[in-house]
Amino acid sequence: MSIVQWIKKRLYGFLHYPREAVLASLGIQTTAECGHKTKWRGIVGPYDDRREINLHSEKNGKPDYCLKCIENTTIRCAWCNEIILPNDPITLYGAENDGGFVPKKWVQIYNNNGKSTTYVGCLRWDCAETGADRAGFWRMPGKVERHPTPIEECLNSGEMVIVENLSKP
Ligand SMILES: [Zn+2]
Ligand SMILES: [Zn+2]
Repeated sequence: MSIVQWIKKRLYGFLHYPREAVLASLGIQTTAECGHKTKWRGIVGPYDDRREINLHSEKNGKPDYCLKCIENTTIRCAWCNEIILPNDPITLYGAENDGGFVPKKWVQIYNNNGKSTTYVGCLRWDCAETGADRAGFWRMPGKVERHPTPIEECLNSGEMVIVENLSKP
């Protein structure tokens, strides 16, 4: 391949790739809306569960949050202790405040009415009782975006919903 062909090929690749992917592959930094300098791609998470994530440009061609802010917003599921990254779907199950359940580190409390506490949990098939328990999403900068679960939606609309049972492999 001649150098001209090579450049054309690279250029074609660059022009037909999402801008973020090109910037990420070049290791270029940007300043996210949160005010911090960041690369477009990086590895985040606690020592035992590091994941590669890609940022996406939102307003003004910038990502909303830097990799560090996203890492700092990563929590753990109250029940299985696996990580929950921003934008992951979540469950909201409760436990009695009788000392029977002791939450671990990085666990997020959604609600505590004195008698019981509702915790943010993950929707992994071996953790959530059913996919129909999806109660919302974990969002930046560290809050629950509540959505009605498919069962709540069904009760509100009075219509039948068929939900895949994710509690069994
Ligand atoms: Zn930041
Ligand atoms: Zn879990």
